[in-house]
Amino acid sequence: MRALVVAAAAATLLAGAARAAPSPVVVIDPGHDAQANLATEPIGPGSATRKIEDGGGTRGVVTGIREPDLTLDVSLRLRSLLRDAGVRVVMTRTRTAGKSMGNIARARIANRAGAALFLRVHADGASVASARGTHTLTPAYRRGWTDDVYRPSRRAASLVQADVVRALGFPDRGIQEHLDFTGFNWADVPVILVELGFMTNPAEDRALATGTVRHRAAVGLCRGTLRFLGRPPARCGI
Ligand SMILES: [Zn+2]
Repeated sequence: MRALVVAAAAATLLAGAARAAPSPVVVIDPGHDAQANLATEPIGPGSATRKIEDGGGTRGVVTGIREPDLTLDVSLRLRSLLRDAGVRVVMTRTRTAGKSMGNIARARIANRAGAALFLRVHADGASVASARGTHTLTPAYRRGWTDDVYRPSRRAASLVQADVVRALGFPDRGIQEHLDFTGFNWADVPVILVELGFMTNPAEDRALATGTVRHRAAVGLCRGTLRFLGRPPARCGI
């Protein structure tokens, strides 16, 4: 009886500790949607420069798979891995079914969620089939827009890029800062955009069409994210 009481008290203490340290929120943004959105929006708060909300993304040169379908599938796999690792996840979309919401709307979802990381998942396209490899985009420094998220975003970009390259084995194209990305400039939380590979490169398109490689991509994204959150990456599985 006494042991039961002690066990119950310990359980209460543990529950209290869990409440005291809420798990972080990661907002996953699968790139694009079923349809492009050619309306324009300001590239940053108060800016007179406007850009198209969403050009629609690229497509597999061999498989014909559309980028919005690839990014959603990898993102849903990533959501499962992160949830299993104890991270709360908010998705900007869970279906590929309508007109793209544009980039301000995506950033606002991340801001409202108080995201520890706003992780945008894309695949690249180029006019030449030889372009290949993985790269990660991160906000350039601009006072009033990205000064608050510049450093943590760069750190997240380095960690996630390294883990995705390790997981996929595509060439490492490094990290690039962007000044004119609407989804970066409107974000008040750390934000990165991972270009997994080139769907216009036959080998990378074929690879990214398989469940095995999509799972690897999700594991790489998960591991880099957990490292950024200060959690053991082994919790993503293999
Ligand atoms: Zn894209």
